Amino acid sequence: MSSKPLVIVGTGLAGYNLAREWRKLDSSTPLLLISADDGRSYSKPMLSTGFAKNKQADELVMADVGAMAEQLNAEIRTHTPVTRIEPDAKRLWLGAEAIDYRDLVLALGADPIALDIPGDAADHVYAINDLEDYARFRAAIDGKQRVLLMGAGLIGCEFANDLTSGGLQVSVVAPCDQVMPGLIQPQAAEAVQHALQALGVAFHLGPVVSRLSRDGAALRAELSDGTVLACDAVVSAVGLRPRTQLAAAAGLTLGRGIAVDRQLQSSAAHIYALGDCAEVAGLNLQYVMPLMSCARALAKTLAGEPTAVSYGPMPVVVKTPACPLVVSPPPAGSAGQWSVEGEAPDLRILCKDASGALLGFNLTGGCVSERMALNKSLPAVLA
Ligand code: FAD
Repeated sequence: MSSKPLVIVGTGLAGYNLAREWRKLDSSTPLLLISADDGRSYSKPMLSTGFAKNKQADELVMADVGAMAEQLNAEIRTHTPVTRIEPDAKRLWLGAEAIDYRDLVLALGADPIALDIPGDAADHVYAINDLEDYARFRAAIDGKQRVLLMGAGLIGCEFANDLTSGGLQVSVVAPCDQVMPGLIQPQAAEAVQHALQALGVAFHLGPVVSRLSRDGAALRAELSDGTVLACDAVVSAVGLRPRTQLAAAAGLTLGRGIAVDRQLQSSAAHIYALGDCAEVAGLNLQYVMPLMSCARALAKTLAGEPTAVSYGPMPVVVKTPACPLVVSPPPAGSAGQWSVEGEAPDLRILCKDASGALLGFNLTGGCVSERMALNKSLPAVLA
């Protein structure tokens, strides 16, 4: 048996789920997990439901790093960024320290896109993409009230709902004409926006924040349409970019993420990738269900049984309880016709091809209960 470890870089849902799945199949090969963060196990989707539940960051932790190391029979190095990979030597570097691996898995996640906003208040802009970000934002808004939220995509809408339910006053600013553009149909977007407005969210769709300045103890945001908003903190939810820098420097092929095939194998031997950082057979899907499927398939491959990942239908449940929403986008490039049934907020919006076969759907309000039945007719995302 090789004494070199399987090394997994990243202790998010991708890294820890892979470790768990692989340990079911191989209980003895050494396992080393390396993380730039504190290695606590948590479920990232809970970050956008924490304010309504009044949860501190520590209350979202499922297991500390010691418990994870014991559970996985693994060594876990925390606050230790991997700085370089040498694929030909099967070696990685932690600063000046070298580690040889049997196989290397990159589960590096994605970076929030940071906007460069003129003004003197950039340090009051928070992206909430991990537990430590969540803790920082909670501390910053403690005792304060007004949040300006940049971005009206899925995560932006979830935060708008959650922060408002948690007692904060939220204004959403985004340069689009509907919420979740590109993801949902206009009728569904309208239903969600109306429900969030009824909850108290103010929308400024169209302009961007063109300047952010300090104004005494508060902030002053100037929008590109001339509106001026006062707020106490800004949350940025304008998108995530797969972390590819390490892989790029090591000469790995990139797409919209670290390019891997259906066995999660990168362009370099013995290096694999999964989760938000990976583009799997052309798809970079930043959701939990795909990474769970990848973890199960990759665990088998790493245990000696080469296994291709497949994805069935994977509808996304958007956590906007003000207007429940489930979305299954039609496959990219498919030609379908959309039809709208029902009355807001209870909408059944279906996309079908010329033969009447279901390609995708948006379900809102009471219609979300039809999701399981409709799932049976959906095409697989990766057959
Ligand atoms: P991450 O959890 O980001 O983990 C990346 C890891 O890599 C971290 O441990 C980091 O420290 C480490 N790392 C990075 N670079 C280095 C380095 N150089 N050296 C060492 N370690 C490094 N999806 C759903 O399906 N349903 C939902 O309801 C949902 N809600 C969400 C709500 C929010 C607010 C957000 C932000 C996302 C949500 N998602 C949801 C998406 C889902 O949570 C992510 O797809 C998933 O958690 C990504 O896991 P990951 O392990 O790939 O990345």
